[in-house]
This record gives sequence, structure tokens and C-alpha cells, in this order.
Amino acid sequence: MNKTRSKNMMGNYTSTRNNKIKTTFSNAVLQGISENGGLFVPINLHPLSLEVLLELSYQEMAIAILKAFIDDFEEEEIANCVRKAYSHTFSTSNVVVINPLADATLLELYHGPTSAFKDVALQLLPQFMQTAKHKHQIKEDTYILTATSGDTGKAALEGFKNIEGIQVICLYPNQLVSKIQEKQMLTTQGKNTHVYAVKGNFDDCQRMVKEVFNDSSFNKKCLDHNIQLSSANSINIGRLCPQVVYYFYTYCQLVKNKTIQLGDEINFVVPTGNFGNILAGYYAKKLGLPIHQLICASNKNDVLTDFIRTGTYNRNREFHKTISPSMDILVSSNVERFIYECCTQDSNRVKECMDDLTKTGSYSLLPDELELLKKEFKSYTADDKMTKQTIHSCFNKTNRIIDPHTAVALNCYKQYQDETQDKTHTVILSTASCYKFPTDVVQAILGITLSEEEAILSIKKNSSEEIPTNINALITMDDVYPNIIKQDELRDKILERMK
Ligand SMILES: *Cc1c(COP(=O)(O)O)cnc(C)c1O
Repeated sequence: MNKTRSKNMMGNYTSTRNNKIKTTFSNAVLQGISENGGLFVPINLHPLSLEVLLELSYQEMAIAILKAFIDDFEEEEIANCVRKAYSHTFSTSNVVVINPLADATLLELYHGPTSAFKDVALQLLPQFMQTAKHKHQIKEDTYILTATSGDTGKAALEGFKNIEGIQVICLYPNQLVSKIQEKQMLTTQGKNTHVYAVKGNFDDCQRMVKEVFNDSSFNKKCLDHNIQLSSANSINIGRLCPQVVYYFYTYCQLVKNKTIQLGDEINFVVPTGNFGNILAGYYAKKLGLPIHQLICASNKNDVLTDFIRTGTYNRNREFHKTISPSMDILVSSNVERFIYECCTQDSNRVKECMDDLTKTGSYSLLPDELELLKKEFKSYTADDKMTKQTIHSCFNKTNRIIDPHTAVALNCYKQYQDETQDKTHTVILSTASCYKFPTDVVQAILGITLSEEEAILSIKKNSSEEIPTNINALITMDDVYPNIIKQDELRDKILERMK
């Protein structure tokens, strides 16, 4: 690959498909994905002291936790990245907001510039990349290829827009994202942003990106034109570590407001698609956070629920378009990082599973591996009907309007409680603002169908939450039309830009 990449053989990162590889955080971030499709994973994660973290602000805590992941930045460089990412972009100085919700806690992760939780990581990733490029004196342009089921795209476009030396190419499945999500992406202002609607679903978009990464002759061609390819999807380790921070931050806040005592275990329920957010929770646990149970919440695309219950991952099933589109995924990339843990870091075994997945669309864990998977995760499914019922009953009982992704999590939490009677304090991750999915939300709470704009105003009437600035701005913008491409056209689109 690139000259600067092979030089540095030390580091705390290896690949899930070849554990002989040793590399640094900055190389892993720049490369995005490892040779032959493997994902970069940290080799060692040492437990952190909760007492030390307890008194820190969100930004200070981010620096302390990122230090555990970043093996080749100075502390000052990490601090700079954090400052640039979080100082002005979120509507709350502590990035996230924690509120009680009935007997649980709602962790609001959607106060960033695009009103979805992905901002938390995608405001930082560009800073990591710039710092890493600077460190390695990389002069080439970086092309970020991003597949999105709706929210990553806009968050990546916002995070990277107008960043020197970086171009962003974003692919989303045509007609399978919400109108607001599409308009958010198509109206991005940056000079370096390019958005395409693909004839296919999210998995097709993700496969297109992976194919281009794995095409070595195409990569060489790019390098000949002074272009490096990288990824802003959660296959990039730089996407995952920023998400570990809010698990710790929430825990510390709950200790400080006396909901729990230091050392108590808590649960997290995570509405899951690509398995990135919940994997960050698992890494938090490895870093010493007292987590009793991580609960994986799926929508009708319940491939993960079946996997966690049976040990067989089978993507050969119908794809459902749901009202929680950011979770409409059949190939959850980050599962591979957990498989690596399950099979005691045996990269040959991971490769075997992933080859099976490519060839047959399915793979099965061995009994020992399944036991580990089941120990770490519980999983439940909520379909659209259950999701709407939950939005409705949550509004009736608590006056809170939650978005469909959050509602999937809340519904799965109830199922977990019914099944286990577990009384451990539980945090529900709220991954998007309800204003991002207004039509379905209003359908659920009022039983009427409104246009997006009317629905936004109707939510405003019924909610104490303000309309996020970015969504308010969309209302007045003219309609925009997608640039539709076929599944074999990504290379052409990259080549077009090179001229
Ligand atoms: C991306 C997304 C998810 C799924 O997160 P993963 O890390 O892919 O599992 C859930 N909810 C919303 C609103 C999202 O944008």
C-alpha cells in the first residue's frame, strides 16, 4: 500500500483477519480498513480509574478515554482534536444530555449539527485524520468513501466539509432514506462534498465501498493520481473510540446525581444497525466500566437478534424498509470485531467466518464462541407497529416525544424487563432527534398523517424540545433532486474527480 503506512510496524492495532499486522492508531484511521477486508482492532485496552474520571467535563473525559485508544498522538494533539470537534458544534456544552425517563435514563446523543448520534464521532474523525496526515507528512488528497443508511452521510458531510486535502463521496440507497435525511445531504454546503443515490439498498452501498477498497489495482491508480482512499463508516476505528466516551460520561453523571453508587453495574440498551455503537459499549466495559448487560435492539431487520440467540449469522433473508431506516442493515460490519474477541483473537477463524459470509451469506459460531456472545449481549426485536405503540405510550406516560430508533430501544428494554425481571438501572441510548422523522412520529402520537413540514410544527406544539437549527433551516430551502447512479459506477465517479 502506501509508503508511509508500511513503515511503522509498532503500535496497538492489529487486523481481525491477520493478527500479524501491527500498526498505530493514525495508520489505522488513515487506512480505514485493513488488507483483505480486515478491520483494525486495539490489541490492549487497560482499565481506567473511575474515581479519576468522575470529576471531569465531557471534553476532559474524552481526552482521558481517547488516550487509551490513541497510541501515537501527543496529549496536546488529542486535546486539540477534541476542542475543535466539540467546542462550537453541539447545542450543549457537554455534547450529550442525560434525562430521566420513567424508571430508566435517556441518553440524548442527538444535539450535534445533524441531529443524530453519529455527529459525536464524525466531528472528531476529520480531526484525527488531519492530525494523522500531518504526522505522516501525507500530501496526497484523501477521498472519504461513505455508505449511509441515512444519518452517517450527513454527519460525515458536515464533519468533513471544507476540510483541507479531503474530499467526501457519500452513497445512500435511493428512496430508502427519509425525505429529511435526503434533503439534509443534498443541501450540504461544502466545496469538497459529493452525494449519490444508488439503485439498491444500504448493503449494496456498503458493498460498493468495500469492493473499491479491496480493488488493489484501482487503489494503485488512485495513488498514481496522488489520492488515497479512506472510510468514514464505523469500520474506521476512529469512529468507534469517540463513542466510548459517552458510556463513561453517563455513568459518572448517574453517580454524581446519586441515581447509582460508584461501582454499581448498569445496563445500556442500544438501537443497533452496523453494531458500532453497541461495540463501543463493549469496549467501555473492557476499559473497566461496570456494565451488567448490553442490550442490542433491532428493528424488523432482525439478523442480529437471531445471531445473538442462535450463533448463526444469516443474511439470506428479506430486507425490510422500516420507520427506523438507520438500522435497516443486514450485514453489520462491526460484528466482525466482536467475533475476533469471541474466538480469542484468532484471525484465521475470523477470516473463515467472513469468507463463509461472502460465499454463502451465512456463518455459525462454535459453542464456546456463542457462549461468549450470549454472555455479553442480549437482543430483542421491535417491528414498526411495536415501535409506533412505544412512541405513543411514551408520549402519553412521560410527555416525551422520542424518535423511532430510540423507540425500538425502549420497546426492547420493556421486553428485556418482562423476560428477566432485572432491576439494574438502565440507560436507553437516544440516537436521533424526533424532528428527523416527523411524519412517522406524528402518525404514532396523534394518529394523523401530515406533510413533513406540518409534522415538524405539530411536534413543536406537543414538545418542550426546540426544532433543531439545521432542520428548521431545511424547511425554507427549495426541493433538491438526487444524482442517481448504478451499483457499478462508483469507480467512474472517483475517476471523474481526479481530472
Ligand atoms: C446509525 C444509527 C443507528 C445504528 O447505529 P450503529 O452504530 O450502526 O449500530 C441507530 N440509530 C440512529 C438514529 C442511527 O443514525
